[in-house]
Amino acid sequence: MTELMRETDKQLKDMAERLRLCMLRDNMSELMNMATERRLSPRELLMFLFNKEIEQREVNRIRLTTMGAHFPRLCSLESFDVNAQPALEPGLLRELSRMEWLETAENVIFVGPPGVGKTHLAIGLGRRAIELGYSVRFFTAANLIAVLSKAKQDGSLVHKINQLQKFKLLIIDELGYLPFDAESAALLFQLISKRYESRSTIVTSNRPPSEWGLVFGDPTAATAILDRLLHHCTPVVIQGDSYRLREGVKQQKIT
Ligand code: ADP
Ligand code: MG
Repeated sequence: MTELMRETDKQLKDMAERLRLCMLRDNMSELMNMATERRLSPRELLMFLFNKEIEQREVNRIRLTTMGAHFPRLCSLESFDVNAQPALEPGLLRELSRMEWLETAENVIFVGPPGVGKTHLAIGLGRRAIELGYSVRFFTAANLIAVLSKAKQDGSLVHKINQLQKFKLLIIDELGYLPFDAESAALLFQLISKRYESRSTIVTSNRPPSEWGLVFGDPTAATAILDRLLHHCTPVVIQGDSYRLREGVKQQKIT
């Protein structure tokens, strides 16, 4: 490479920096080499460079949105074994994974005993939503109540609820595992009614919604929350034994 070429590359890098084309800035020489090897025409070269930049931005967007969602772990819809869950209709799962219900602000509730894949599916759908460009936030119910209670104490409840309202999809995991008091139910009600008919929520629970009144301290709040969650909602009941226990038994038989 001549001194002049080096100087030109440096200028190009500076320009890419000013235009915030980070992919081009960081990979200028490699991309130039690839373009030369492929003997690209000027049009093809632009197409190639723009594509690389767009691809990289998409990867960054997915990475950042996934971090912001605070998933407790990263499982995917692809790694969910539908055959292991005969009670679950594959067609329903395919339908849900198209995520069209986010556009109509509908909800999904997964109900079933521990270990049957409720959280796995909620995270899988959350990640699919992110791939499609939606924003997602995951909470356990206990976590969410703690966040809302703290906001109330700090006098920032309205701000917090507005913040949570921005997420196209909210996931509330393990609702019903731990009972909560009337004040917590009221906080949850405020959030759910704000999101009602404009944003989607996934809830996972080990109890059917009809029993939520028992854990909600306040049956009136429970009814009001249920009313809004269930109005436009796909309930998915998963029965059967814990996947891990079953897989564990299989492993033991093999060894
Ligand atoms: P739940 O939330 O219903 O208690 P989880 O989603 O936490 O259950 O599932 C427990 C474990 O079993 C997780 O590691 C999950 O990935 C796995 N698992 C459950 N069901 C399936 C399935 N059908 N296919 C693949 N993995 C599964
Ligand atoms: Mg779970």
